[in-house]
Amino acid sequence: MTRKLYYESAYTTEWETSVTGSEQREDGLYVTLAETAFYPHGGGQPCDLGEIGGAAVLDVILENDEVLHKVEAMPASGTVQCNIDWERRFDHMQQHSGQHLLSAVIRDMLDAPTLSFHLGTEIATIDIGCAELSAEQFQAVEAEVNRHIYVNHAIRSYFVSEEEMARLPLAKQPKVTENFRIVETEDVEYNACGGTHVSATGAIGIIKLLRSDKQKGNIRITFKCGGRALCEFNDQSRILGVLSAKYNTGKDEIIDRIEKGEQEQKRLELELAALKDSNDGYLAQELLAALEPDSALVSDIFEAKPLKELQSLAAKLTALTDLPVLLVSAAENKAVLAHSGKAGFSCGAFFKAELGAFQGKGGGSDKLAQAGFPSWEAALGFYEQAKRAIVS
Ligand SMILES: [Zn+2]
Repeated sequence: MTRKLYYESAYTTEWETSVTGSEQREDGLYVTLAETAFYPHGGGQPCDLGEIGGAAVLDVILENDEVLHKVEAMPASGTVQCNIDWERRFDHMQQHSGQHLLSAVIRDMLDAPTLSFHLGTEIATIDIGCAELSAEQFQAVEAEVNRHIYVNHAIRSYFVSEEEMARLPLAKQPKVTENFRIVETEDVEYNACGGTHVSATGAIGIIKLLRSDKQKGNIRITFKCGGRALCEFNDQSRILGVLSAKYNTGKDEIIDRIEKGEQEQKRLELELAALKDSNDGYLAQELLAALEPDSALVSDIFEAKPLKELQSLAAKLTALTDLPVLLVSAAENKAVLAHSGKAGFSCGAFFKAELGAFQGKGGGSDKLAQAGFPSWEAALGFYEQAKRAIVS
């Protein structure tokens, strides 16, 4: 059986040992070692990565209490030099130790148990057994966990017998039935845990709670500790810096500037809509003035009018004339047909009958119909055909 160095110290990063076995499986090559500090997946914590005899370690799993290392290639025989990716491991230790403190504080302050822990590559989460968490509680929990970090409680881990374990005020009963490993955070808690932890709470550095969300009747808290929290701070500072430069103001003024910008945008949109409406009125009068005396249809072609504007112009025209109105625009390959109700045919029925020949899709009521076409050629083809059909 492999000697598990990660149980003796979470700070072992390099060691020499020998390969004791290997197995080619469908998904790759696995080796066992006489001694390993490679932590396998478990307890919400991802595995370590690194090298065994120069071969990259791709995955580490625990099977029947044996640690199996999936390697890129077979390491050299005899003694092999091993090292773990310390940056990755220490990050896991900071998040995992931070989770212990966070869960302990939530248990004390809110009387809520931690139901699950997930440690991802970007963020860590815990689900806690309570239905509500106010903003004040959220802030108070964060402050209290950070206070415990500043106090720098020692964190020790050791194995105990079943009898010894029974005497400890454990946070919760362990899932294992033998090899009871206790992780003790001095003056805070005793926790049955097989993971890797920092040696004192100060090494967690900081905890930042990012958000809390309702999750199946419980609360999920997303957090970052140590180096991750610093990266998050840098990321947010960078974004604030860009916004400050864009709005040419300090960070405290940015929200105010954005709100003022939104108000200005709304005012301009209203002003633009009013101008378009008035412009449509003039355009409608111009189109009617240009009609031949015996015209049976008002029609025109536009390059850049979206459907909404075609409809608005058609409404202006049908308010002024009882002639049918046919408009087409290249902006979205759209056509509109409308009349005041006195043209003697249904716009919707007309579109239904004529669209198919031009791959047009659309429809409408008796007084207003609209359609879209796959190309400008098809839209224009429909427009010419509709003009002929309506005036005939
Ligand atoms: Zn733990």
